[in-house]
Amino acid sequence: MAQKLLVVRAGRTFLDRSFRPAAVVVEGGRIVDIVGHRDRIIAERTVLVPDDAVLLPGLVDSHVHVNEPGRTEWEGFRSATLAAAAGGVTTFVDMPLNSIPATTTLEALEIKRAVAAPSAYIDIGFWGGAVPENLGALAPLHDAGVFGFKCFLAPSGVDEFGHLDRAQLDAAMEEIAALGSRLIVHAEDPALLHDHGALGRGYDAFLASRPPASEASAIDAVIDAARRTGARAHILHLSDAGSLPAIRAAKAEGVALTVETCPHYLTIVAEEIPDGASEFKCCPPIRDASNRDLLWAGVVDGTIDAIVSDHSPSTVDLKRAGDGDFGLAWGGISGLQVGLSAVWTEARDRGIPLETILPLFTTGPAAVAGLDAVGRIAVGAPAHLAVFAPDDVVRVDARELRHRNPISAYDGRVLSGRVRRTWLRGRVVFDAGGDTAGAMDAAGVPGGRLLSRRGTLVAVGEEAS
Ligand SMILES: [Zn+2]
Repeated sequence: MAQKLLVVRAGRTFLDRSFRPAAVVVEGGRIVDIVGHRDRIIAERTVLVPDDAVLLPGLVDSHVHVNEPGRTEWEGFRSATLAAAAGGVTTFVDMPLNSIPATTTLEALEIKRAVAAPSAYIDIGFWGGAVPENLGALAPLHDAGVFGFKCFLAPSGVDEFGHLDRAQLDAAMEEIAALGSRLIVHAEDPALLHDHGALGRGYDAFLASRPPASEASAIDAVIDAARRTGARAHILHLSDAGSLPAIRAAKAEGVALTVETCPHYLTIVAEEIPDGASEFKCCPPIRDASNRDLLWAGVVDGTIDAIVSDHSPSTVDLKRAGDGDFGLAWGGISGLQVGLSAVWTEARDRGIPLETILPLFTTGPAAVAGLDAVGRIAVGAPAHLAVFAPDDVVRVDARELRHRNPISAYDGRVLSGRVRRTWLRGRVVFDAGGDTAGAMDAAGVPGGRLLSRRGTLVAVGEEAS
């Protein structure tokens, strides 16, 4: 029998949507075999996952804002990928805005890839941006391997990334349908938003400024345009559960539509957000408890395809702007590292098994981005794996999270479940015990790779098979 590099044995391995005993055999960074839990294999290294933990595929997060370059003091590739690895995430797709330049041109994509390549501890892909200035000229970014295009239907929060009006949304969908790409949409209708300047420290005024109707109106427009053009469309960060029936109906009708929500919408409710606690500000906003219940129904019945972080940090000063004024503070939540634990904590309280939520952290977001090779433990797949201990209890301390700025909506929360170890291509990139020696190659370079839409691995300036 040929000698194998690494065997990971677990009594509960997440395979084909259920837990089974298995031994995962890894050679050359890939999964080369999956055999019986107790089968004898000669290996250089064998890892036994203890009975109180499960073996998962590395998680996939298709919605992360890394602000490097340009706003690197908000978040950078090194800190974001280390946080991701600590949360069991081995692949994420970077959003096209909040860095400068925004990823709306080929040149900007090349700049982002050049700064990401030497700092990435996990694998990273990129979304392009569809803005008024580049409509009609999306093909170069598509050809360069972006996974699709993001647009806003309301002001984005940064001046350099403009939003599309309804005619431009239609035009973008037509162009994207012709390319065979996908349009991912921040769906709020600006005509129904009232956020102009300071709103004060009470959460209610902020919540009222971004009503459910603004999401519903924009989502209707996206469904309409997707239906007419045949483009693949994706609703980002759904907060308004009242829009789920329209989404369900569109999917049933055959519209090429997917939808994501985020851990904060599934775990936090407006009623519990204290005055001035602008670390909870995000757009669309976190709504009330009855809305959260309906979002959970959408998770359980399969309407919601993915749960992704929408990790969108800023400096502490900007996040606390105006002494916690919900109108002035930066809108975005830092949750990259704690997503699975946060959602599992809430799921468990609701009697929902871990198996139900795991696809939304793995194959779901992978499919949203068209990343077919990741998010599952399968022969031939890259050996991205995570050990998760569902019964471990952790109290989140924002200062200990690995993203750049020590502020998070999850600070102080007591969560069930902890990632104990993460492997990227069979190398340890996070170990709760502190051993991350495998995170770098012999030259001291982080081992994350840049991904393109075609699933090939891209070094800066070249493409390898
Ligand atoms: Zn976002």
